[in-house]
Amino acid sequence: MANPSGKTYVVEHLDPELEEWSALEYANIAAECHASGAQFLLSSVPESLQLPEKLQKAKGLSVERRGVEEIFAAQKDRVCLLDPAASQELSPADGDAFDVFLFGGILGDDPPRDRTSELRQKGYQGRRLGPVQMTTDTAARVTRIVAQDKIPVDKIDYIDHPEIQVSKNESTQMPFRYVKDSKGEPIMPEGMMDLIKKDSEKGLGDLL
Ligand code: SAM
Repeated sequence: MANPSGKTYVVEHLDPELEEWSALEYANIAAECHASGAQFLLSSVPESLQLPEKLQKAKGLSVERRGVEEIFAAQKDRVCLLDPAASQELSPADGDAFDVFLFGGILGDDPPRDRTSELRQKGYQGRRLGPVQMTTDTAARVTRIVAQDKIPVDKIDYIDHPEIQVSKNESTQMPFRYVKDSKGEPIMPEGMMDLIKKDSEKGLGDLL
């Protein structure tokens, strides 16, 4: 697969299932990696897991049944784990120090359960992207901006915990940090707003 940037973004899928949320995030990471000349690998995908059609067709996505340790066994020191608990922030210089950026393929939770520890235990060098939990696609976006566009992590415009209007009278607060777009809105994968609205209706339905 063409990889002019020489950078590979890897999401190690850590859940047995693939939620709709994750599918939208992964399709979005694939599209942005493809556009920036990088490669995207979704690793550790169980044989039993059937990816949704839209994701299967996503440009720039390679699906790997093997885990990250096996795929990059010979390049372990060139792999950087994006880790909310790391003591060092990701810097533009890390774009030269690493070829592979590794993310936990888990949905965000509030409060965070530190499931990234499953990858930390494998002994990769870790870097943080600031103190606030991001969605996986946001973490990949910020990593690309820092490592490829060479913009320091604290010079990126963010929106923390945005309030999303889910119906005429209701809103819900997202417990994550997002990158701000040129209109001042949080950047989210295509279809995510509708999914948030649908899920919040379901939540209300469950109570009735
Ligand atoms: N609550 C999760 C946990 O328990 O670790 C965080 C999951 S986050 C939605 C998914 C992935 O995005 C993480 O595994 C990590 O690779 C990356 N990530 C999110 N926020 C980050 C941050 N502030 N610094 C570094 N990596 C981050």
